[in-house]
Amino acid sequence: MKPAERAGRVYLVGAGPGDPGLLTARALELIARADTILYDRLIPSQALANARPEAELLFVGKQGGGESVPQEQTEALMIERALAGREVVRLKGGDPFVFGRGGEEALTLRQAGIDFQVVPGVTAGVAAAAYAGIPVTHRGVSTGVALVTGHEDPTKPEQELDWEALAAFPGTLVFYMGVRALPRIAQSLIAAGRPPSQPVALVERATLADQRTVAGTLSTIAEVATREEVKAPAITVVGDVVELGESLAWLEDRPLTGLSVAVTRARAQGSALAGRLEDLGAKVVQAPTIRVRELVDPAAPLLEPSRYDLVCLTSTNGVRFLFKRLAAAGRDARALAGARIAAIGPGTVAALAEHGIAADIVPERSLAESLVEALSALEIRHALLATAAGARETLPAALRERGVSVDVLALYETVAEPLSASVLEAATSADYIVFASGSSVRFFLGALRARASGDQASLFNRPRARVGQPFEDTSPGRDERQDGSVDFSPETRLVSIGPVTSAALRENGLEPHVEAEQHDLEGLLSALVADTARGAG
Ligand code: SAH
Repeated sequence: MKPAERAGRVYLVGAGPGDPGLLTARALELIARADTILYDRLIPSQALANARPEAELLFVGKQGGGESVPQEQTEALMIERALAGREVVRLKGGDPFVFGRGGEEALTLRQAGIDFQVVPGVTAGVAAAAYAGIPVTHRGVSTGVALVTGHEDPTKPEQELDWEALAAFPGTLVFYMGVRALPRIAQSLIAAGRPPSQPVALVERATLADQRTVAGTLSTIAEVATREEVKAPAITVVGDVVELGESLAWLEDRPLTGLSVAVTRARAQGSALAGRLEDLGAKVVQAPTIRVRELVDPAAPLLEPSRYDLVCLTSTNGVRFLFKRLAAAGRDARALAGARIAAIGPGTVAALAEHGIAADIVPERSLAESLVEALSALEIRHALLATAAGARETLPAALRERGVSVDVLALYETVAEPLSASVLEAATSADYIVFASGSSVRFFLGALRARASGDQASLFNRPRARVGQPFEDTSPGRDERQDGSVDFSPETRLVSIGPVTSAALRENGLEPHVEAEQHDLEGLLSALVADTARGAG
């Protein structure tokens, strides 16, 4: 790359310890804007989700514990891209200046005359303690906290930690990178005078859905870690504050802790659901099987809503695209002033409210049948139904039967989004699979069948109950699933948002284990949580 007129800038950005919710607003803003992002292995899974589609994403971390991209190469890349005028985000786990070599990178940038900024992140040591319910400082117990690397190299004397000083430190010690070094850390601290009975906690995969904490004392922790097979990444917390964790642990109390839930909605809607599930403690597998695509017909006449005395909206996407159409015609919400507005579902009602419209008719249940009922007493001549292509006929048919002239405006369609084998595998092994629409059922099962009839050796490695519909498949050479039926782990429970989605499952030979009473996101969540309590009481 040639040097540009104006050099770009490098942002050394901390991505936090793993929970995507711990990314800072500044980090998200810079990720969404960057031309180039150089990232490490220990960054939150969704951290790059909002990068621009044309952004260059470069992985410079360690590949599965193996060799990492040499530091000089990473630094050279950063400099080269910045000189070419790009905005570069160097994204690091935790905080960039806490054992992240961020200081070295900043020095190199300064030497090269490259403009840079540093964006701090939530560092793993402090986050691990917080998520384990351990206050790193506590009045009367610990008046300070030291962040220490556990990664000293015994062959390099200059890297030797000052154990005497650490043992004498009047507060909490937090070790990074200490799993293998744990026996030596514990022994050295005891030898230097820290009490052997001092409590120690090991926090594995802190802030992630499968975070685990094991505790012991300086004299027992190495043995406990081996027995419990604690693996990296882990944080070791040494100090009397660890005892507080017993009464302050909060993470494990969440209703979905320890459960995996696969979400099959369209990506945009799925992430709202995923966020809520994660809040409840679930490990979420995002399997977005559908994507929403706006339908634009350049030949279609401009939308003229004043002709209608009723406008029906059945989804948030419908609202979104209807207002886009209106805007395209140079109109706004006032164009709907003459019509009554009917909306199915609280999400749709909320989306309308964002445009300043309070829906006139909202059926009690989020179903077309329920809306038909709610409209029965109303005098209607011309109705506009803004909806998805291929939507159910229930509503227009019922209205037409009453002599209403109905225009169905198909504003968008749902199209399949390809799913990788690993996502399918993770989804079908999850404790729950959540279906929030008939189309997500069809697309998800379609993706599974496509996989099953493809040529892969073993998609699933857990024993499975077989359910599902026979499927025409004549390709030879596979003794498993020759019928292309859909396999789920026998423990996997299928959750449906409502009767229409359940019907789609049954059409495919699958019986939902759970059906939400209230057919929206809240209803889905409470049905799921209620189901986890089954058998517990
Ligand atoms: N800059 C990072 C630390 C990088 S060093 C920060 O500020 O957090 C990498 C070490 O951080 C790992 O070996 C581990 O000890 C710790 N670490 C990072 N993420 C972690 C996590 N989610 N859970 C536990 N430890 C983590």
